[in-house]
Amino acid sequence: MRFPIHEGTPISWPGPHPTEADVVVIGGGVIGVCSALYLARSGLRVVLLEKGRIAGEQSSRNWGWIRQQGRDPDELPIMVEANRLWRELASETNVDIGLKTGGVTYLASTEKAMADYEDWLPHAQVNGVDSRLLTRAATAELIPGMSRTYVGALHTASDMRAEPWVAVPALAGIAARAGVSIVENCAVRELDIAAGRVIGVISEHGRIKAPEVVLAGGAWSSLLLRRHGVALPQLSVRATAAATEALPMVYPGGAADDEIAFRPRADGGYSLAAGGFHELFVGPDAFRALPNFLTQLRADPFGTRFLPGAPHGFPDAWGTPRSWTADDISPFEKMRVLNPKPNKGKLKALTRDFAALFPNIGPVRIKAAWAGMIDTMPDVVPVVDRVAALPGLTVGTGMSGHGFGIGPGMGKVLAALVTGAEVGHDLARFRLARFSDGSPMRLGPAL
Ligand SMILES: Cc1cc2nc3c(=O)[nH]c(=O)nc-3n(C[C@H](O)[C@H](O)[C@H](O)COP(=O)(O)OP(=O)(O)OC[C@H]3O[C@@H](n4cnc5c(N)ncnc54)[C@H](O)[C@@H]3O)c2cc1C
Repeated sequence: MRFPIHEGTPISWPGPHPTEADVVVIGGGVIGVCSALYLARSGLRVVLLEKGRIAGEQSSRNWGWIRQQGRDPDELPIMVEANRLWRELASETNVDIGLKTGGVTYLASTEKAMADYEDWLPHAQVNGVDSRLLTRAATAELIPGMSRTYVGALHTASDMRAEPWVAVPALAGIAARAGVSIVENCAVRELDIAAGRVIGVISEHGRIKAPEVVLAGGAWSSLLLRRHGVALPQLSVRATAAATEALPMVYPGGAADDEIAFRPRADGGYSLAAGGFHELFVGPDAFRALPNFLTQLRADPFGTRFLPGAPHGFPDAWGTPRSWTADDISPFEKMRVLNPKPNKGKLKALTRDFAALFPNIGPVRIKAAWAGMIDTMPDVVPVVDRVAALPGLTVGTGMSGHGFGIGPGMGKVLAALVTGAEVGHDLARFRLARFSDGSPMRLGPAL
């Protein structure tokens, strides 16, 4: 099966784009779509530009977990709100996005993992989240039929899941009905800047005048910012995932141990992925950002595999231009949909490990396999901030592998940052300046 959103997917929103707006949102992933939606709901004229297809990159390629469990304490209140917003939004679409409250479970192989879960638990309690620790016996009872036992587990019954490649285009449909002008196959080449402030964007089809711009460009955000002299220590890592053919139901939620993560899919199969394994293609940004990432590397020295160079056209490939003019074809147009090849060795291991964990499940056959480039920050929490050096620009990026679930919450926060409305959350943790103002690096929980 070919991955469902690709460069040949028919364009749903062809444009042309208007020449004026109140806000231009760059990037049609879950963050850009949700930001645009809530901006339009606050009465603004919003244009959303996507260089490829809505949800063509991370936002369709993820596991679909909508999880509060294990979140950074400063993300958690936004995530709790996102849970509520997902339910609200699911009732506004005319398609089934597969939203299910099946729970999320982290299976502990060691006492140390259990201790880490226990340390995190107070954050759940403060935010009214129903996370709890399970004993060895309770874990075996929750997920019957496993060939091995675990020391215990962290379990959150109210965590959910949805089908990403259906859900995010469906959210875009809601945004369009709310008045957002969505244009696919339309890259922003540059920010339009005059007298030190952003006055719009220059797309491959021309200028849009707008006093406010939101950058939600996922893995491409740092490339665009660097073009305008703003440093963002963001890197992308490849993560491989797969969907199996239909199999009996073993557990209605998402679960993960150190080796494998699985959750049932709406089509009767399971999504499988390797928990805690990523691959970094080393390029110029990796060298530049290395000092910022040292704390993360020391904390998890074996979680990342290093590969010598990114494929042609990737954001941090050696040959990708770092500077261009508004008349040049930009790197964004040259790669409409970032579509890394999955790691074949990992796919074999996933099939083997899932079949070994559930010996009675029957033959595990992969129906589809894909990979995505996860945009990650040195402290594993995003940047959600107004850019002081470029008034008029707001950035929401670097969701660090957990932006799907929190998307609607972050979208609402970003809309409030633009309109000046009450944000309702403390965003100090997500400020851009934390990488340059001498703040100590504080890693988010690697749970
Ligand atoms: C394999 C995998 C598993 C994951 N599992 C989960 C999970 O279970 N739960 C969870 O919460 N998160 C998960 N994530 C993370 C989640 O998918 C991302 O954090 C989230 O989708 C990020 O959304 P985004 O909108 O910031 O970026 P993206 O979805 O990457 O969207 C950015 C968009 O911006 C566009 N763009 C970039 N530059 C320009 C430009 N100049 N002009 C126009 N358009 C531009 C791109 O084409 C792209 O479509 C996973 C990610 C992967 C890859």
